[in-house]
Amino acid sequence: MNLVLFGAPGAGKGTQSERLVRELGMVQISTGDLFRAAIKNKTALGVQAQSYMDKGQLVPDSIVIGMVDEVLANLNGKSFILDGFPRNVAQAEALGKILSQRNLTIGKAIFLEVRKEDLLSRLTGRRVCKSCGAVYHVQSKPAKISGVCDQCGGEVIQRNDDKEDVIATRLKTYEESTEPLRGYYRSSGQYAEVNGAQDAELVFQSVKSLLK
Ligand code: ADP
Ligand code: AMP
Repeated sequence: MNLVLFGAPGAGKGTQSERLVRELGMVQISTGDLFRAAIKNKTALGVQAQSYMDKGQLVPDSIVIGMVDEVLANLNGKSFILDGFPRNVAQAEALGKILSQRNLTIGKAIFLEVRKEDLLSRLTGRRVCKSCGAVYHVQSKPAKISGVCDQCGGEVIQRNDDKEDVIATRLKTYEESTEPLRGYYRSSGQYAEVNGAQDAELVFQSVKSLLK
């Protein structure tokens, strides 16, 4: 089954996607990761995306939608998780068209619910591996050796957009643009929600139970 995983920044989409990839062999399509890779490789796409990301704003729909379309064209039948896309109703509508053109479907759009108070500490404490993207947290999931990735030995850093001033814009953008997707997917019949405030392992069990 193909999934959309959505929720506020810091809700745990990347953390759950990592587990779905590891345990079920699904393919993670994280638009945020794709943009960060493009920035690292200094591509034209990266240059276009960076100014929006640094400010905590959404990258324009036309850029994101084109990028996702290209990824979906090259999946070779593997089950996928859309992590961080769609992020507004216009993107969800575009996704619907792309999927039907490619004879693909989304089984469930799973909303990870976490209170705003908890999101702030998750985002300010988040650290990520610069090389493989593994996700850590200074309190709840520290790397075994500070600053070094457990999985690949890469450098573990704080994302530029995980600084407090940018976080405020990202949370506002979420409320205005992404939260309305709950209504969109409720009316499509694909909506499911999971309590994202539980321990990550329990969240994973809940997500997995929705795949049956
Ligand atoms: P998103 O991809 O939705 O922005 P992440 O998966 O990167 O969110 O998680 C944000 C931060 O919260 C990370 O530091 C991660 O380790 C931590 N985190 C994720 N899920 C949980 C959880 N269930 N309980 C506590 N901390 C969590
Ligand atoms: P994320 O890694 O999902 O937290 O995304 C980081 C940043 O990438 C966001 O704050 C946006 O600037 C940009 N981004 C990621 N996905 C999208 C999307 N679907 N639409 C627009 N911008 C996006």
